[in-house]
Amino acid sequence: MAPISTEPEEFEYIVIGGGSGGSGTARRAAGWYGKKTLLIENGISGGCCVNVGCVPKKITWNFASMAEALRDSTHYGFATPANIPFDFASFKAKRDANILSLNRAYESNWSREGITLVHGTAQFVSPKTLSVSLEDGSGEKTFKAEHICIATGGYPIVPGIEGAELGITNEGFFALEKLPKKIAIVGAGYIAVEMAGMLNAIGVEVHMFIRGDKFLRSFDPTISETMTARYESVGVKIHRGYKEFERVEKVSVEGGEKVLRLVMNGGESMEVNELLWAVGRSPEIASLELEMVGVKTDGKGYVVVDKFQNTSVEGIYALGDVTGQLELTPVAIAAGRHLSNRLFGPPHLSHSYLPYENIPTVVFAHPEVGTIGLTEPQAISKFGTSNIKVYHTKFTNMFYVPFPEEEKKRNPTEFKIVCEGTEERVVGLHLIGLGVGEMLQGFAVAIKMGATKNDFDATVAIHPTSAEEVVTMR
Ligand code: FAD
Ligand code: NDP
Repeated sequence: MAPISTEPEEFEYIVIGGGSGGSGTARRAAGWYGKKTLLIENGISGGCCVNVGCVPKKITWNFASMAEALRDSTHYGFATPANIPFDFASFKAKRDANILSLNRAYESNWSREGITLVHGTAQFVSPKTLSVSLEDGSGEKTFKAEHICIATGGYPIVPGIEGAELGITNEGFFALEKLPKKIAIVGAGYIAVEMAGMLNAIGVEVHMFIRGDKFLRSFDPTISETMTARYESVGVKIHRGYKEFERVEKVSVEGGEKVLRLVMNGGESMEVNELLWAVGRSPEIASLELEMVGVKTDGKGYVVVDKFQNTSVEGIYALGDVTGQLELTPVAIAAGRHLSNRLFGPPHLSHSYLPYENIPTVVFAHPEVGTIGLTEPQAISKFGTSNIKVYHTKFTNMFYVPFPEEEKKRNPTEFKIVCEGTEERVVGLHLIGLGVGEMLQGFAVAIKMGATKNDFDATVAIHPTSAEEVVTMR
């Protein structure tokens, strides 16, 4: 394809990737500091979070929570019939429409702030120059800037098993027009646990294949243990010690229902209507030609950065999922804003950077999990057993008062506070239960400010809530 122009068009800042991080840094540079900014995007504006991540996930989580609430309503005396029919396709159409409006909002915000958007795939030709293969097929164009930021995100890993491509990832999950009757989910992290929780609540038969004996293993053991037990108690089938399927086969069925056969090592097999891979993500760097300009990556391909998001090449920065730091939308946005503050802001921001400690995060499981700071084992290894104190409580949320006893047991609420030193500075907070996703943000502010257990205790409780337990724990 012949180049449209050989003369590079010059900008003050070029951002590759219009997802959470790229948008955050470009908007700060252009909107706040008036820098001539180019954003290059080769997919759908808004990136992973808006299109196939946080946003459709949270809307689906709400859908599943509605199904749960309808079931639970019988315990409050409502004559709610079992198995109320629902129209998944119309729900999905509304979810898609919301995402489309967000894509437009992203682009109109960029345009209002004077950002030039180019749809195409960027690759480095020199440390200050990029060549973009334009999405409309009209050829290639080159662009130049003193400062270039890589914010290209990641993609879901699909194992190299025969027939693995017959399954789906989060992208395929949000494209489903119809819910499968039975699904296998491979993985033990955020996505596996969130999807398993939602689908189980909606009535899908869920089989989780995990390598260990618990999921969410990187979280505090309380969370990992309680949530694994909770999922089993509400009917999620957990297959422990997973060591890869031997192969996946498509079974043809009259009527067009998708049926896959999972052939296990050892000859056993299981038929399911869908297979979801949720075994982590890899950085999206293939098209960038990073080695050509000397940008260093680690063994997994993540772009290596320092605390200022500088790569190994001067004037080239990276942030968000492509760096493998905490893979969360607000982290990518915050890192992007700090970077633009540092590069283009007033002198007092010339050392601006995002500290990666004490970042709160929520797993939108059923129920939710909220966590910030160190787990108990991490605190022990950092400060020593004798220097930490742990407060722990497990109770029944008042919402479950009218429920039968065995159902109360299936719905745990559990909190843990990890403190360090004689002053009992709070270094970790781990929450499971209804509403903890909304509860955590305020406590995160306090912990970020260095709150001690005494500060928690000195705060008057709000009654009756489950949050009050965090300030009354003994
Ligand atoms: P992305 O959002 O992935 O954006 C990268 C962009 O770069 C993409 O649009 C891509 O098309 C573009 N691009 C790539 N290569 C090129 C190239 N060579 N040229 C031009 N453009 C390119 N986080 C939360 O905080 N809360 C949640 O609830 C949450 N839920 C999630 C649920 C799921 C199912 C998934 C998968 C993720 C979830 N996340 C959540 C994580 C969150 O989505 C990511 O951390 C976030 O989107 C990362 O932003 P980013 O800017 O680094 O990358
Ligand atoms: P995660 O890294 O959270 O979890 C993947 C897990 O799958 C691993 O921890 C591992 O657990 C297991 N695993 C890895 N390889 C294999 C394998 N070959 N076979 C079987 N199991 C395997 O990745 P996700 O894909 O769930 O999510 C990606 C990231 O996106 C998350 O880390 C998170 O940062 C972000 N995200 C955030 C959300 C939120 O904020 N609510 C929601 C969704 C995603 P083990 O070692 O126990 O086997």
